[in-house]
Amino acid sequence: MAEILVLVDHVDGEVKKTALELLTLARRAGEPAAVFLGSGYDAARDTLGQYGAAKAYVVEAPELEQYLVVPKAEALAQIAQSSGAGGVLLTSTPEGKEIAARLAVKLGSGVVTDAVDVAADLTTTQSVFAGGYTVTAQVTKGTPVITVKPNSVTPEATGGTVGAEDKVAVAFSDAATKARIVERKPRAATGRPELTEASIVVSGGRGTGGDFGPVEALADALGAAVGASRAAVDSGWYPHAYQVGQTGKTVSPQLYLACGISGAIQHRAGMQTSKTIVVVNKDPEAPIFAMADFGVVGDLHTVLPQATAEIQKRK
Ligand code: FAD
Repeated sequence: MAEILVLVDHVDGEVKKTALELLTLARRAGEPAAVFLGSGYDAARDTLGQYGAAKAYVVEAPELEQYLVVPKAEALAQIAQSSGAGGVLLTSTPEGKEIAARLAVKLGSGVVTDAVDVAADLTTTQSVFAGGYTVTAQVTKGTPVITVKPNSVTPEATGGTVGAEDKVAVAFSDAATKARIVERKPRAATGRPELTEASIVVSGGRGTGGDFGPVEALADALGAAVGASRAAVDSGWYPHAYQVGQTGKTVSPQLYLACGISGAIQHRAGMQTSKTIVVVNKDPEAPIFAMADFGVVGDLHTVLPQATAEIQKRK
């Protein structure tokens, strides 16, 4: 059975949920092999094994910490070539997609980005044009390189262990060290999950009137991330880093709550693959109701605090 390489998203060995999602998908198509780049593998080993990584390729090199995506693409290409991998899965983040594109060029392969599902034969499903079309696509040349949107699948543990480990030495090119990371500025900690990885997102729009208090309170009661429409961001009510939509982030959570958001196509482009959509809007004619699984016609400043209080009562 061919190995399906999974590029592991992690912070100093703390494995992100997206990596577990990719391992779950990789199991359908072959033997999942984790590619762990950077330091901290010892902390990650058990989790990777528990979610089905039969093998791990580990590359520890200063280039992977100090430089941008090029060294990661080079390391992954070397491993893909030497292992004869059947496919490579990465997460659909800006970094994941850039690595995927560079990797596909190096391998002479095709690349599919923003898949929401991957079948056993590596046929992918994508949702495009703001959800207007569902595309199934398959890479027919070279080693398929596929990026998958976070939250596309629920991670399933196998309870296994990593069977084999391969510490790989990579000879990086000069190009790999041309662009260096000079500073990292972590965003002020909110205590909330990362927007693109959260399984629940509560978003506010122009209907908040600039008061995101009820949106944040509901998000905190649910353990959710907060998102915002562009109208809210352009008004200076919420930072751009939280904008959902065509010119913001793409989210695909299990549950998306749109509060005071009309449902413009550019907003839908960023959230229409959410599994369940709940709408709170005072206008029963708002277009967003057309995509809602559940809807409440009402003023969010009344509805949200009631929902928050009810959730807290049940905790
Ligand atoms: P509105 O459209 O003004 O809707 C506000 C809604 O709130 C209304 O439905 C109203 O009934 C409701 N409401 C008002 N008061 C209350 C209340 N008290 N309680 C409950 N409901 C209330 N938009 C994005 O979101 N993301 C993007 O990435 C994005 N990219 C864009 C890119 C381009 C090139 C362009 C042209 C536009 C883009 N837009 C984007 C903008 C988009 O077209 C809409 O203008 C925007 O999404 C509207 O935001 P909104 O729904 O919050 O505001």
